[in-house]
Amino acid sequence: MVKVADAVVIGGGIMGASAAHFLAKKGLGAVVLLEKRSLAAVSTGHSAAVIRTFYSNDLTIRLSMKALEMFANGREALGGDCGFRNTGYICLLGEHTAAAGLAVLEAEQRNHTRAVEVETDQIAELVPGVNTDGIVSGIYEPLSGYADPVKTVRNLVTRAAEWGLTCFEGVGVTRIRLSGDRVTGVETDAGEIQTDLVINAAGPWGRRMGLSAGLNYSLRWSRESDLVLRLPEGFGRFPVVSDPNLRIYFRPDGENGVLAGLSFPKEVEPMDVDAYDPDLDEPTRRRIESGTFERVPPFRRGEYLKGWASVYTITDDWHPLVGPEPGLEGYYAFFGGSGHGFKLGPPIADSLSDVILGRTPAFDLHPFRPSRFLEGEQFSSAWGGGNRG
Ligand SMILES: Cc1cc2nc3c(=O)[nH]c(=O)nc-3n(C[C@H](O)[C@H](O)[C@H](O)COP(=O)(O)OP(=O)(O)OC[C@H]3O[C@@H](n4cnc5c(N)ncnc54)[C@H](O)[C@@H]3O)c2cc1C
Repeated sequence: MVKVADAVVIGGGIMGASAAHFLAKKGLGAVVLLEKRSLAAVSTGHSAAVIRTFYSNDLTIRLSMKALEMFANGREALGGDCGFRNTGYICLLGEHTAAAGLAVLEAEQRNHTRAVEVETDQIAELVPGVNTDGIVSGIYEPLSGYADPVKTVRNLVTRAAEWGLTCFEGVGVTRIRLSGDRVTGVETDAGEIQTDLVINAAGPWGRRMGLSAGLNYSLRWSRESDLVLRLPEGFGRFPVVSDPNLRIYFRPDGENGVLAGLSFPKEVEPMDVDAYDPDLDEPTRRRIESGTFERVPPFRRGEYLKGWASVYTITDDWHPLVGPEPGLEGYYAFFGGSGHGFKLGPPIADSLSDVILGRTPAFDLHPFRPSRFLEGEQFSSAWGGGNRG
């Protein structure tokens, strides 16, 4: 174990791996990434990793546009091919969801995402076998898709080794060390590291790491599941589909699979992040399958392959906490993905690394500052909150 570092990043999910990658790439020096389990072991490795620009805020739309650009150009932008597949994305709108969907379309068009409204006959062409009952139209994004989250994290870390990043898996941080109002290092279960720069990217444990530095973050945790079915023989291509009417989403999983889960509007299912069953439970499996089969009846002929449960780490406005803390020098928060943080990780990290290095960032991250709630500001959404954003 190293004893001294120019920066320590806590947590090897998409947030921590991206932050460590860009800090090393931009020449910070000896960057150490500490991951208590293995890289991408928690939320990131279980993510559906959908990258869509379907947001109601300009900032998250533009960050997602940047994410699409980065993932489409993974070798140069993210250290390797991240398995990005440009499948397109469609959100199906019903009578009760049309107003929010059209507000998103307006925001998307203002930001030139290439999103368009599509009629039900076009939806039927895009999604083989779809049942359009209750659907009035859809918002279609031709540039969107999904990536391989584990590959993404491994690429970010592996590539940055040549720029000074050292990663330790199986090493947990037990405390952030302070002297007065500044960070002086971290204590780990493998010894201490002196550093004057710490990035808290501990995901579900971001609150715990914050408490060790005297910071009290408001977070909730929700159990979240996905399953994968083998597609019936000869099933055609289809985009990522989000269906707020039946509260499900699904996307292709490679050439022969479909990955599906419960979607917005979500019920928060409180959980203990230190002790949860990582397997898909039967009632959740039935709920996912019943909505998915109702929307695409031929999926009934699919074969169940696997399912899992993982964690959403949810902030009070369902947007991440990013940036410094007033009165604590050398500390930066970067967690609270709130169920949509995979895509936002790399572009936010790119700008956060510029903030840390005293450069002008491509994106103004001020709206994500952790102190926004105390200052009476927070993100709002055309959907009234939730991970739809
Ligand atoms: C089922 C599911 C589907 C999702 N689908 C999407 C999607 O389609 N699109 C999208 O954009 N987002 C999606 N998300 C959300 C997205 O995956 C998360 O927001 C994102 O992965 C969070 O990344 P993270 O790095 O903050 O957290 P994590 O991936 O949880 O990483 C945090 C890491 O920190 C480590 N750690 C914690 N404490 C310590 C410590 N003390 N010392 C060292 N290491 C520590 C943990 O072991 C963990 O590996 C989904 C999430 C889930 C669960």
